Amino acid sequence: MQKRISENGKNMTPDQAKEKISEITDKIRTYNREYYEEGESSVDDNEYDLLITQLSELEHQYPEHVLPDSPTLRVGGQPTDQFENVRHNHPMLSLSNLYNEEDLREWVKGIQTKLSKEQVKVVCEVKIDGFAISIIYSDGKYSQAVTRGNGEVGDDVTANAKTIKSLPLNLGKNVSLELRGEVYLSKENFDKINLRKARSDSQMFKNPRNAAAGSIRLKDPKAVALRGLDILLYDIAEGQVSEKHSLNLNYLESLDLPVNTYRKICDTEQEILDFCNHWQENKETLPFEIDGVVIKLEELSERQMLGFTAKSPRWATAWKFKSEKARSKLLNVENSIGRTGILTPVANLEPVQLLGTEVKRATLHNYDQISRLDIRLGDTIFVEKGGDIIPKIVGVDYTERQGKSSPLVPPDECPVCETRLAQTEGEVDLRCENPSCPAVLQGSLEHFVSKKGMDIRYLGSAVVGLFIEKGFIRDIADIYSLPDKRNILEALEGFGTKSVDNLIQAIEKSKGAPMNQFIYALGIRHIGEKAAKSLAKTITEISDLLTYDSESLESLEDFGTIMSESVGKWLAVEPNRQLLDKLIGVGVQPAPLAKDETRAFTGKTIVITGTLSRSRNDWIIDLEKAGFKITSSVSKKTDFLLAGEKAGSKLQKAKSFGVAVLSEDEIQTMIENS
Ligand code: NAD
Repeated sequence: MQKRISENGKNMTPDQAKEKISEITDKIRTYNREYYEEGESSVDDNEYDLLITQLSELEHQYPEHVLPDSPTLRVGGQPTDQFENVRHNHPMLSLSNLYNEEDLREWVKGIQTKLSKEQVKVVCEVKIDGFAISIIYSDGKYSQAVTRGNGEVGDDVTANAKTIKSLPLNLGKNVSLELRGEVYLSKENFDKINLRKARSDSQMFKNPRNAAAGSIRLKDPKAVALRGLDILLYDIAEGQVSEKHSLNLNYLESLDLPVNTYRKICDTEQEILDFCNHWQENKETLPFEIDGVVIKLEELSERQMLGFTAKSPRWATAWKFKSEKARSKLLNVENSIGRTGILTPVANLEPVQLLGTEVKRATLHNYDQISRLDIRLGDTIFVEKGGDIIPKIVGVDYTERQGKSSPLVPPDECPVCETRLAQTEGEVDLRCENPSCPAVLQGSLEHFVSKKGMDIRYLGSAVVGLFIEKGFIRDIADIYSLPDKRNILEALEGFGTKSVDNLIQAIEKSKGAPMNQFIYALGIRHIGEKAAKSLAKTITEISDLLTYDSESLESLEDFGTIMSESVGKWLAVEPNRQLLDKLIGVGVQPAPLAKDETRAFTGKTIVITGTLSRSRNDWIIDLEKAGFKITSSVSKKTDFLLAGEKAGSKLQKAKSFGVAVLSEDEIQTMIENS
């Protein structure tokens, strides 16, 4: 039922197709293991779904090469050895996917034909992005909870699921039921968990699904209880009271069981489409994450007539929300070096329209990513525009690969200064460690003179480039010897007395820039504006910085391990210490910050809602640093509401209480101005 994304396999011999099938299958198996067993995944869901689509299409064309245990035929997970394994009374399957209107029409038509009916009634429900669970009540008492596992056998997580507060332990009626539902973490609880992790510098969860799956696997039910898991039930596998799905759900509600209330009975394709589009547009208003809509037949008798494939029911399917993705061709790869010396491969693509703009270039991040996705020149690739402004390549249509191509090899040398590239153990980035590399120098100078740094006007990137080329500037401190070259500068094409005067004045003025801007301007890894300010508060002159090491930095307020280590490492490099001495020598004397500066918004409460351009956790960290207390619900006592796009009930509530509602830009300006 998936959209044909290519005329797959058209360039392949059967042997090549066999090899491709085995290659894609291996990749999917690895991702399945990561996703279902380790709760993490190195690719996003869209990329995974593309691989499944490619595999099904190849299998469709070359049925003789379909592997008996192909991932297209089986539920992806496995039971683990951490819990007792239990066989399900009724298999727990996956769902087929629909991606667009055409897919939906085909699915509906297929059902109508099989049932010989002109119209079928379905129930549409939001598809909660958690993990599936089977819950059993025996004689009215909560008795067992089992994860989906491989669909046949799952993990017994009865003790852990018992901590879900909304799940009653006693139904008050002597009924026996086997239920299906989705365990999830609300966005609010997810933020809380990640905030705790951020504070203790531990690895944060990627998304609520991943956090929910990790939480149910904890050994100690008390620890599970602290995570605040929740559940919504969506089906009865045994113990139905009606022949209609919607009435069975009503029955569960009458027993005070938590049921997915975001549902609607639909009679026509248009109604189904409207429901799907409504939730695609309004998904942010829900307190939990959803990744689509599940469409199920209302009549159980019809379900029985249609039955199941090996992997999913024929009577239900999932409408997956759209991602902003396009296909293009990889023409070549350019390697660029940034101010930190990191090498970034950038793809030049055949121009393609994406979200109304023409995309010609996309980041490939690093060579680790290139090798993981096995991206090759001439490949048909998928480019995606996510929250980031720079488009990224998220996958390859391997079936379109023509002729012979070889993997892309990372360069050994810096493409600009030809110094051998270095790679720190455990890191994926290749790095030019030559501080005098023109690309590193250009980048670090541009950062140093930027508005948030030393704010030296008249030193734009073209002028910086020219001065590097002429040999006037070999390091940051050389900026301060430019005034000695007045005559030479005045003689340069495009420069006159007035412009050189302006430049010299700006350079002289910058010597007394605020200490936080000076520290930020140094461009130390992980030291952004906020961290620079925290550090600046603890010193009065540049030489104080030279007395710090990683250990002493760690005791500073608001300074985490990563930041302390990064500054400590930077200070341990002799040329960096020499640079600081040189800056002192040329008269740079930043203005110290008031030490006892209290945080500007201490005592103010703020609630965050809606879709934000940065992650919620980034906002939480910044707001807390500015002194705000973050609360989860709006009350009369709330001072501010930070409202992103598509804010829902919290926005209404804030307005009714007269709470100040601010956009991201407004709050950012407020913090900066403070
Ligand atoms: P699925 O998640 O696409 O659909 C089936 C599941 O939907 C059910 O098991 C149930 O848990 C859930 N669901 C939520 N709300 C529901 C409702 N109202 N009614 C019925 N079911 C509901 O299928 P799957 O087999 O669990 O997972 C496959 C998907 O998982 C892939 O399409 C991909 O998006 C993702 N995945 C990603 C990776 C990766 O590496 N990124 C790996 C494996 C799977």
